Amino acid sequence: MRSSNSSSITPADSGATETFAELLARVQACTVCAAQLPHPPRPILRASPTARLLIVGQAPGRRVHETGIPWNDPSGDLLRQWLGMTREQFYDVARIAIVPTGLCYPGTVKGSDLPPRPECAPLWHPPLRAAMPGIRLTLLIGAYAQAYYLGKRRGRTLADTVHAWRDFAPDFLPLPHPSPRNRGWLKRNPWFEAEVIPILRERVGALLAAGDNDGAYLSY
Ligand code: SF4
Repeated sequence: MRSSNSSSITPADSGATETFAELLARVQACTVCAAQLPHPPRPILRASPTARLLIVGQAPGRRVHETGIPWNDPSGDLLRQWLGMTREQFYDVARIAIVPTGLCYPGTVKGSDLPPRPECAPLWHPPLRAAMPGIRLTLLIGAYAQAYYLGKRRGRTLADTVHAWRDFAPDFLPLPHPSPRNRGWLKRNPWFEAEVIPILRERVGALLAAGDNDGAYLSY
């Protein structure tokens, strides 16, 4: 573990003239919760000032931590299937930003991934979002992303929140986590694949096809 060094890495350090690259460099250098992580911090995200779609998941798992590529695992394969995207389309950082609720691998307990570090999203999501003014839709994947962005607007259960997706449009679309551990949830909730995945594909497809022409973007 690396020792924490929170005093030198905070959003308050940013000046009005900070470039996107400088912001990303500050994120990549973050050690705020290093003492609580099982490995030296390795923030894993993809972001650019031209992104239009933001994907917010949970936190990197071990494989993602090791490769440094977000959603580079079976969960990512299913997410791309839901989106109807190739890997090349999915990793087009000029259009799609990927910023999890916790940027570093938090470790595991009894074989399950620990939650994202609670310090992370409040620290880095506001400045990153502010630096990506073209974001028109944010996919909230799993309970942690939904808790951070929707707060008390969430339903009683994840299924309630996802089922009420219209309540969060056009800015957000809540989704279950596509983890292999969630295959049971997907089987128990067939309405998700029948109803929400077509909406997901339609909205993302329209958004990315629209380019800079917001007038062509579907809203719900
Ligand atoms: S999890 Fe977030 S807050 Fe903690 S060290 Fe990584 S980037 Fe910093």
